[in-house]
Amino acid sequence: MKNLLFVISGPSGVGKGTIAKIITESDTVKLSISCTTRLPRNGEEDGLHYFFITKDEFLSRIDKGEFLEYSEHFGNYYGTPLSFVKETLKTKDVVLEIDVNGALEVKKAYPEAVLIMVVPPTIEELKNRLIGRGTESIEKIEERIKRVEYELEKKKYYDYTVINDNLQDAVKEIKGVMLKEKTR
Ligand code: ADP
Ligand code: 5GP
Repeated sequence: MKNLLFVISGPSGVGKGTIAKIITESDTVKLSISCTTRLPRNGEEDGLHYFFITKDEFLSRIDKGEFLEYSEHFGNYYGTPLSFVKETLKTKDVVLEIDVNGALEVKKAYPEAVLIMVVPPTIEELKNRLIGRGTESIEKIEERIKRVEYELEKKKYYDYTVINDNLQDAVKEIKGVMLKEKTR
């Protein structure tokens, strides 16, 4: 079976991180760890959730062409290290959990990449999940909710859209998509 690049996107709080963690528990699928200039949230570890780097470092890596894609949102930079993706794809599948702009950049560079958009059952539920996660202030949550429409509008460019209502069902559906694409 061929090794593929899967890209998971969706509004903040929809459950991308939760899903990405579960689907990369296998030995044959690796999660790419992004670089970011945002500060770690409580419980986030450098090298595990993100590589937390300074803005100067980030800009210097852009200049050196070290990112497969990068984008700026909520005032911070986020980028996918190119070397990890290239090397890992030689032996395994790779999952990227990145925003819609980054995903469209990836599709340009790797047309065979499979784009999966995760959407919430309702905006109210999305808000509840963000509040429940307890990692952002109400202002930051409102900022993220304002971006939801923009992100959902991009789902037409995605190969698949999966509703994350029941977590187990969403994971099962995404695993099904991955198998289907790999055996195609
Ligand atoms: P994202 O990575 O998209 O910002 P997270 O994976 O951090 O989102 O999930 C946001 C919150 O929603 C977390 O507290 C997570 O446990 C919860 N969550 C994820 N999926 C579901 C689901 N299907 N039903 C209810 N809560 C969920
Ligand atoms: P958060 O701050 O909640 O961890 O992430 C904010 C947004 O940045 C999410 O939509 C997430 O998918 C996106 N993101 C995380 N890493 C990357 C990356 O490497 N590239 C891009 N383009 N977006 C990313």
